[in-house]
Amino acid sequence: MRKNIFETIFLTEILKGLSITLSHMFKKPVTYKYPYEATPIMDRFRGIQYIKTHEDGRTKCVGCYLCQKVCPSECIHIETDCGPNGERLIRKYELDLSRCIYCGYCEEVCPVDAIHMGWEWNTVDSNRDNYVINMKTLSQNYKDNLEGNWKNKHLKKKLVEGVKQ
Ligand code: SF4
Ligand code: SF4
Repeated sequence: MRKNIFETIFLTEILKGLSITLSHMFKKPVTYKYPYEATPIMDRFRGIQYIKTHEDGRTKCVGCYLCQKVCPSECIHIETDCGPNGERLIRKYELDLSRCIYCGYCEEVCPVDAIHMGWEWNTVDSNRDNYVINMKTLSQNYKDNLEGNWKNKHLKKKLVEGVKQ
């Protein structure tokens, strides 16, 4: 009882609470003012894919269909032709980002290290058709990775480092 009177008179519980608030006022915030402030991207973040190209601009993809087969969302569609030397030529490569669940299986299964998960995540668009990206866009994404030319400018350094791995 005496303790309760003491606590009431000196407002100890309130002072305890205030001291906790004050101690947090000088700590670095753990939240970000997105979209005004860039949020950190973890190394293993899986964003919009890119497909690597050779130095002469040819795609590294050999049209093996493995990514299409493994994709749980069935969002990859590939069509190929037979080249003059019996090689496969990519006639169509489409990836529907609106269906993609960013599981990364396509990257894991690729036998020639062609398709990769990038760090870009900004896919917002009012037109559903724009979510379907083709080989040209996927190759451009690779170029953007190399040049750090991204919508999310803060990714520049990380992406340049990442692609060189
Ligand atoms: S990340 Fe997963 S869902 Fe998306 S295209 Fe690759 S395999 Fe399909
Ligand atoms: S798994 Fe790789 S090489 Fe095979 S079709 Fe997909 S991106 Fe091309």
